[in-house]
Amino acid sequence: MLTGYHIAVIGGDARQIELIRKLNEWGAAVYLAGFDQLNESFREAVDLDLDSKQVEQLDAIILPVPGTDGNGNIEGIFSNQLIQLKEEWLKKTPPHCQIYTGIANEHLYTLAERADRKLIPLMDRDDVAIYNSIPTVEGTLMLVIQHTDFTIHGSKVIVLGLGRVGMSLARTFHHLGADVSVGVRTTSSAARVYEMGLTPIDMKRLEGRDMSCDILINTIPSQVVTPGIIKQLPSHALILDLASKPGGTDFRYADKRGIRALLAPGLPGIVAPKTAGRIIADVVSRLIQDHSRKENEA
Ligand code: NAP
Repeated sequence: MLTGYHIAVIGGDARQIELIRKLNEWGAAVYLAGFDQLNESFREAVDLDLDSKQVEQLDAIILPVPGTDGNGNIEGIFSNQLIQLKEEWLKKTPPHCQIYTGIANEHLYTLAERADRKLIPLMDRDDVAIYNSIPTVEGTLMLVIQHTDFTIHGSKVIVLGLGRVGMSLARTFHHLGADVSVGVRTTSSAARVYEMGLTPIDMKRLEGRDMSCDILINTIPSQVVTPGIIKQLPSHALILDLASKPGGTDFRYADKRGIRALLAPGLPGIVAPKTAGRIIADVVSRLIQDHSRKENEA
């Protein structure tokens, strides 16, 4: 399936283990950086030497789900080495080489643009985000069960946001017997919430609205869980913020009020790294092959 393709996997967490396994299984030549402390060895993968001719053969570079930090540094839990993605290095790859990342920041976009290489933030894709919502929901259930002493069944749950994650969460909590309301900002989302048998809350008209609940789950990457909302929560309530860092909750205010509030990033990588790695592997492999097919047709 990927025979003849040269793919570098740089840094990451347990998700990359499954990704590397699949790339090997599908016949790709795999180059690794940031895995020197991994106990398991991949017989068919070789260490990536950033200064060697290997770089000139690469068809794709796969970065960790969080991408790089603001300086281009790539984090990896299997190495203490600091790997920095640099424009000069990217320019040594062939022009068709694509960079895959989970999410991208300004720095990474600029780097890719300057090196004239295509950057593909996988989590921007609906297919990846929807598949990924499955382990995200399972991780959320795990945290809710761990941090409450009451059942989900019969509890009042508010989910903020009806995107790829919010929709999966709202449906799952509803099926488990919770009384679910969903915070949305458009009339079409409100209609969808109603169609699902749930209660819509208009995020633009929260003033005076009853927001008390047992479990508040935020998926909106904006400061939406404000002191006004937190004030209404009973002392046993749990706030779980799934939105990308720094989340959308006033954590200081929640702490002051004695309300448990957790920022819970990266749940797929924590609860189901194998599934999450497989999701990335499937999509990346399809995209690499589509890209090379298009290049050949052009
Ligand atoms: P999404 O599909 O883009 O959904 C985001 C939702 O937030 C949409 O419903 C959007 O409304 C709403 N929204 C955005 N800004 C808003 C605002 N200012 N006021 C009201 N609503 C607003 O994203 P997603 O894939 O569901 O992911 C949601 C978040 O979870 C992201 O930050 C993502 O990085 C994160 N995430 C976390 C984990 C984890 O393990 N913790 C896993 C996956 C994703 P509209 O539809 O009206 O635009």
